[in-house]
Amino acid sequence: MKVTQHIKNANGNTQFSFEILPPLKGQHIQSIFDNIDPLMEFKPPFIDVTYHREEYTFKDAGNGLLKKHIVKKRPGTVGICAAIQNKYGVDAIPHILCGGFTKEDTENFLIDLDFLGIDNVMALRGDAVKTETYFKPEKEGHAYANELVSQIYELNNGVYLDDELQNCSKTNFCIGVGAYPEKHMEAPSLDSDIHFLKKKIKSGAEYIVTQMFFDNDKYFKFVEKCRSEGITVPIIPGLKPIATKKQLNAIPHRFHVDLPEDLIIEIVKCKDNSQVRQVGIEWCINQSKALQKAGIPVLHYYSMGKSDNIKLVAAALF
Ligand SMILES: Cc1cc2nc3c(=O)[nH]c(=O)nc-3n(C[C@H](O)[C@H](O)[C@H](O)COP(=O)(O)OP(=O)(O)OC[C@H]3O[C@@H](n4cnc5c(N)ncnc54)[C@H](O)[C@@H]3O)c2cc1C
Repeated sequence: MKVTQHIKNANGNTQFSFEILPPLKGQHIQSIFDNIDPLMEFKPPFIDVTYHREEYTFKDAGNGLLKKHIVKKRPGTVGICAAIQNKYGVDAIPHILCGGFTKEDTENFLIDLDFLGIDNVMALRGDAVKTETYFKPEKEGHAYANELVSQIYELNNGVYLDDELQNCSKTNFCIGVGAYPEKHMEAPSLDSDIHFLKKKIKSGAEYIVTQMFFDNDKYFKFVEKCRSEGITVPIIPGLKPIATKKQLNAIPHRFHVDLPEDLIIEIVKCKDNSQVRQVGIEWCINQSKALQKAGIPVLHYYSMGKSDNIKLVAAALF
C-alpha cells in the first residue's frame, strides 16, 4: 500500500516507522531481522531500506603501486525489501539514488521493484563518492533528485526510455523525497533548498521525509515555510536518539544539523555511554511526544543498524 494511503487510513493517529540499512557485505540477513523483530509490536506501516552507492578502495598491487577497487560495502537493498515484505507482510520502501545509476539502471531497478509488488520508493540524489568532494552524476544519469522523480513518474505513466516500446505496463509507485529542516549542506539558503524541494513535488513526489533534527522548532518552522510556498504533501519528521558521546561531534559533522545547547550540556555531563544513551532516549521521547501532540501523521526513526533504543522510544509512545 502507498504511504499516502497508510496516512489516510490512520485517521489522524500518529504512526511509527523506521529506516534500516543493509548489513555489511558478508553478514547474514538475520542481522536485519534481529533489528526489525523487536520493533514489530509497534506496527510500522512501512520500513525504509537505505541504498549505499559504490566506494573506492585502494589496495597494494605489489609493485609499489595502488590498485583502485570499486566496491559496494552494503549491497542488498532490493533483496532485503523483498524479504521484509515476505516475512512481515509490511510495506518495504527501498531508497534509490541518482549517484551510480544511469537512467537505464534506474529503469531496470524500478522494474524489479514493480515485479516484487513494492508500492513506494524514496528518490534521492545521494552524496559524492567518499573519496570525492562533489557529487558527480553518471554520464547517462541524473544530476538531481527531481530528475529521478520525473523518471519514476514517467514510468508510472507507462513511458519507458525506449520510445519504440508500445502499450507498456504502468508502474504505480508512490514517490517519497528527502528534505532538510536545517538546509541541505550544499544549498546556498533554506529558501533555495525549498524552491528545489517544491520542484521534486511538482515532478511527482507525494510525500517528504526529513533529515534528522533535535530541535522541534526547526521542524515546525520548516513545515510552515514549506506550506507558505505551496507544498501541501505530508512532511514526515526523521528522528534519532543519540547513543554515544562521539555522536556529539559525529552527527553535526556527518548530517549538517545542530544540536540544542541543553542536549549538549546533558551529554557532556554523562560519565559513560550508557548514561548518554539514556539522555538520548529521553530527549527523543520528548521530541516524539510533542510531534505526536501536534498531530504529525508518522514519526520516522533512523535506526542506523541498532533498534534497542528506538524500541524504548517507541514503547513510550505507541
Ligand atoms: C530521508 C532521507 C533518506 C536518505 N537516504 C539515503 C540513502 O538511502 N542513501 C544515500 O546514499 N543517501 C541518503 N540520504 C542522503 C542524501 O542522498 C543526501 O543528503 C544528498 O546529498 C542529497 O540528496 P537529495 O535527494 O536531497 O538531493 P537533491 O534534492 O537533488 O538536492 C541536492 C542539492 O542540490 C540542490 N538542488 C536540488 N535540485 C536542484 C536543481 N534542479 N538544480 C540546482 N540545484 C538543485 C538542493 O538545494 C540541494 O542543495 C538520505 C537523506 C534523507 C533526507
